Amino acid sequence: MSSAELPLARFLARCHSDFSKDDSGEVASYIPELSLANPADFGIAVTTVDGFVYEIGDSNVEFTIQSISKAFVFAVALETVGPDRVETVVGVEPSGDAFNSIRLRSDNRPFNPMVNAGAIACTSLICESEGDGAFTRLHDALSRFAGRRLDVDEATFKSERATGDRNRAIAYLLRNHGVLLGDVDQVLDVYFRQCALRVSARDLSVMAATLSHKGRNPLTGEQVVSSYAVARTLSVMTSSGMYDSAGRWVYRVGIPAKSGVGGGIVAALPSQLGLGTYSPRIDDQGNSVRGLRTCEALSTHYGLHMLNRVGDVRTCIAASYDVGSVSSRRNRRPREQAILEAHHAKCAIVELTGALSFANAEYISRRVRGLPPELAYLIVDLRRVPSVSEAALQLMADILDDLARAEVDVVFCGITKGTPVEAALGEWLLGKAGVRSIALLDEAIEWAEDRIIQSEAGALDVEKPTALSEQQLLAGLDPTALSALSELMTPHHYRVGERMILAGEQATTLLFVVSGVVSVRLPGGLRLATLSAGMAVGEMALLETTRSADVWADTAVACLELSLDAFASFRNLHPRACEHIMGNLARLLAKRLIIANTKIEVLASY
Ligand code: GLN
Repeated sequence: MSSAELPLARFLARCHSDFSKDDSGEVASYIPELSLANPADFGIAVTTVDGFVYEIGDSNVEFTIQSISKAFVFAVALETVGPDRVETVVGVEPSGDAFNSIRLRSDNRPFNPMVNAGAIACTSLICESEGDGAFTRLHDALSRFAGRRLDVDEATFKSERATGDRNRAIAYLLRNHGVLLGDVDQVLDVYFRQCALRVSARDLSVMAATLSHKGRNPLTGEQVVSSYAVARTLSVMTSSGMYDSAGRWVYRVGIPAKSGVGGGIVAALPSQLGLGTYSPRIDDQGNSVRGLRTCEALSTHYGLHMLNRVGDVRTCIAASYDVGSVSSRRNRRPREQAILEAHHAKCAIVELTGALSFANAEYISRRVRGLPPELAYLIVDLRRVPSVSEAALQLMADILDDLARAEVDVVFCGITKGTPVEAALGEWLLGKAGVRSIALLDEAIEWAEDRIIQSEAGALDVEKPTALSEQQLLAGLDPTALSALSELMTPHHYRVGERMILAGEQATTLLFVVSGVVSVRLPGGLRLATLSAGMAVGEMALLETTRSADVWADTAVACLELSLDAFASFRNLHPRACEHIMGNLARLLAKRLIIANTKIEVLASY
């Protein structure tokens, strides 16, 4: 299926064909070079936060970014000189005036960074901090937002520099009030140049999606600015991005946006999408007519208003159970199993899913509070959690402190290196008492089970040899048959890390583990089971002659090996005993099936 057939592509194509018919508005001409734009051009692009780009119409036609640069330069200013300094030169209140208004607040600061006065003030901060490198800094940053090197339209730059007396007046006024400290011409050169950067609707959609994605460009994966700067930028875009129609914009469209007289609009809906449009016919307020209609239609059709959010916090828990219903893949000896059955409520597992925010972390805090009082180990699986917000982190810190006081050990698993979750939690976790990280959930459960068994029965003694009569497969066998069978077995020893059985090979033996620990793994490494003394491996050879998995010695292992040929001769002499062994095998398999079914049931019931 081509991307043109995707539902959103069809919708955007409809917008494109409907609004192409709207010829209202005029191409801006107060910067002479802008009047050369083709009034018929119309491009729409949407970039999703996972980096898929929809493009309709003239989405690759380049035009100058103009005022849209203000949003990104504000973000860069916050990053470069810090919010305190930025707030000394510019406010964050909507002005209700046109973009080129010369009016300042009563404290002589510009109203906000989205009108020319405020934007020039922000650019002057970059000049103060970067000197001659100011434009390079902005050029690099905006290019990183777009995910490609943007060019400067020299003709438009010169055209505005030659005619931009109103901006010059604003800049001198700011200098008079001590808002702009540097050289007016130098600051304006940088400002006119930033406005003359060439972008396409596609570029704008990627830039917007970078804002929607907390400052990370979804195409390049680069973190361009911090999520702090993004949240502040989206705030002023919401309240002031569309000049004097800002109130109506928030009311009707409800998506943070910024327009430019070059005919572009960016709209960024956090964690959803970035929209870029280009159509050079603009209305009296300087907003692209077709662009506005596209934003409105998209918001209305899909109900995208940013305050129109629904969500069910409960979905953040993908599964919640204890070791009684889902155990690790380590098969336990009967005595150990009995301990786990008696104390299953000591270890709870909570599998989380989705981005952790304030609301779902608060819900988790209540669920944790509701766990049984005997809880000693809590395993939190973060495999399906892509991010953890600041608020969730704070709530989690309190939950962990409460658990530490209640002497509950907490194990986090599924934290992958290099992910945002690792960045948020990695170091932080190490500093918490009673908290540890284990890569795999199964290993975390095994760790907690071991601790429960140890606290009840002392150290797990994997070295101690087991008598043949203790083998599960041979349980209840009469002594004569047992000793006849033992005559047919040969002892075998394996070193730590040695492969005992190879998947795919012809099975000719079965092995009884006398001491040590072995793991059954798929050739890719995935662990199917871990077994210890008293258990048989390769016992499926009694039913199936090809080995289905590898078996590795996790410790030094002592085994008794029984060849299938020897077993066949045993069968002739002891048919009843043999029948008994097959009965045991059937019971063990049935038990495994019941355990597997319970697991599936527990995990699927969420
Ligand atoms: N460079 C333009 C100016 O300062 C930007 C204005 C705009 O796009 N609204 O006039």
